[in-house]
Amino acid sequence: MARKLAAGNWKMNGMTADLVEVDALAEVVEAAQCEVLLCPPATLIAPMAARAGLMSLYVGGQTCHSAGSGAHTGDISAAMLADAGATHVILGHSERRADHGESSTDVALQVTAAIDAGLVAIVCVGETEAERDAGVTLQVVASQVAGSIPSGAAPEQIVVAYEPVWAIGTGRTPTLEQIAEVHDHIRSELATRRGGAADAIPLLYGGSVKPGNAAEIFAVSNVDGALVGGASLKAADFSGIIEALS
Ligand code: PGA
Repeated sequence: MARKLAAGNWKMNGMTADLVEVDALAEVVEAAQCEVLLCPPATLIAPMAARAGLMSLYVGGQTCHSAGSGAHTGDISAAMLADAGATHVILGHSERRADHGESSTDVALQVTAAIDAGLVAIVCVGETEAERDAGVTLQVVASQVAGSIPSGAAPEQIVVAYEPVWAIGTGRTPTLEQIAEVHDHIRSELATRRGGAADAIPLLYGGSVKPGNAAEIFAVSNVDGALVGGASLKAADFSGIIEALS
């Protein structure tokens, strides 16, 4: 059985004043029967980690460079994220793949760097609407899983997030059957390469998860949690999702 994880991705949102949302999560996080993670913009990792230190809330980054240090203006290394208090990092999000041209090969190098720095890597995969319409969803996702996760990565260092690109920030979600089909496929792809150890890798669903649809999504086979964008920004919304998973 994989551990359960409710992960929030603040994307490029959040100022210092928004850290009050973290305080507002305290009670729910303490009562939670799952791991809870927030990934704010890099500017807020250290102050969020300082507040989160008082509760069992993990803090993570949203990307990292594959190199350890050097002449990479504007980039941030995995060790820097860890130094700021991060324990996790989201890698290969579709917005990074689209906006920054990150390929699965690039993502695999970032995953290795993250693991070397002691971080848990949350590897994102998912098809575009055109790919779903063309009937190639399972192939696309399997190829991203195979290409983005280095074979040597231990199960406790990896989380996979299935996020259909067309469901992110749109209010549209796949049917529960479609989610089950992809999650079952990811589990069996991981099992083909890693055997029974694959069962320990949490598989998150992401894309328009809200308090109102979280419980039915968490009841789907091989869904071990969620990667939540918009509904993670406010404690009132994210709390409902954490409680649905607990
Ligand atoms: P959303 O984003 O919950 O706002 O759809 C999910 C994500 O991109 O991780």
